[in-house]
Amino acid sequence: MAAILLDGKKTAADIREALKDRVIKLAEKGVRPGLSVTLVGDDPASNVYVTAKDAAAKEVGIQAWTHRLPAAISEKDLADHLERQNRDPAIHGILLQLPLPSHLPSEKLLNLISARKDVDGFHPISLGNLMLGRTGFRPCTPWGVQVLLKAYNLSPEGKHVVIAGRSNIVGKPIANILMQKEPFANATVTVCHTGTPDLGVYTRQADFIIAAMGKPGVITGDMVKEGAVVVDVGVNRVKTDKTKSGFRLVGDVDFESVSKKASYITPVPGGVGPMTIAMLLTNTVHSAEMTLG
Ligand code: NAP
Repeated sequence: MAAILLDGKKTAADIREALKDRVIKLAEKGVRPGLSVTLVGDDPASNVYVTAKDAAAKEVGIQAWTHRLPAAISEKDLADHLERQNRDPAIHGILLQLPLPSHLPSEKLLNLISARKDVDGFHPISLGNLMLGRTGFRPCTPWGVQVLLKAYNLSPEGKHVVIAGRSNIVGKPIANILMQKEPFANATVTVCHTGTPDLGVYTRQADFIIAAMGKPGVITGDMVKEGAVVVDVGVNRVKTDKTKSGFRLVGDVDFESVSKKASYITPVPGGVGPMTIAMLLTNTVHSAEMTLG
């Protein structure tokens, strides 16, 4: 039986629609949510992401500024730029697009962003709040995975979730979210990585598989239990002679074989990807709402 697609594009569009109402309510109280996005250098993929974030923010009525700074900017100048955003009351959310050029210390600079405006959810305070089960900004992609599952009423509660990947921005926060004692979480979570000798031993036991490795097609049909829910966070550019660009985007899951075993599966593109921006906008609107007390 073919798996049902978890449509991130549609779910994200529904979220943006709902946000428009919250933005109108804020406007009635004299507040317009503001999002500042900073891109350093001219990485083409990052450029596409910031342009998409800017357009999506404006679509829901958020005031958005995209700062394109030169790749050679000094750490001090970038730090001063971020401090200005921290102080600006019109800005409720600050995003520093990664990756940064290699001479800039990403973690140190991310930590300069005020935790109250950390709509990306990467600040240690946000991640600490998540680990402690407190409210706070949740990282956008991991939270987007949970919200996408919720949109299809697929609760991981009481189920075995196997996550492949333990990065600080995807794997670890997803594990933290899905193990919280809360609705659409409360799962038994196993986290796999390159130190896991045989990934398939774990994925075959999983009711939910979350793939976040950045390695094309690692999860194949024989590694998936019949009826499992499969969420593919991976985005990999692979060469092909079938597109004009010579590339196509694929996930970490071999869609062809896995979609025959899974009950639900995310496509790549169009699955988790659009959810990331929707959650960024949600965090920004929430940040603006918090200024009202
Ligand atoms: P990352 O920092 O490179 O981390 C990859 C993780 O996967 C690491 O923990 C690594 O293990 C593990 N891993 C790699 N190969 C493995 C294998 N064969 N078996 C088991 N574990 C393996 O990557 P990331 O930043 O988390 O991103 C992961 C993927 O998600 C990428 O494709 C990225 O483009 C995509 N992504 C998508 C979105 C979105 O909006 N859809 C957002 C962010 C990222 P070790 O720790 O042992 O090295």
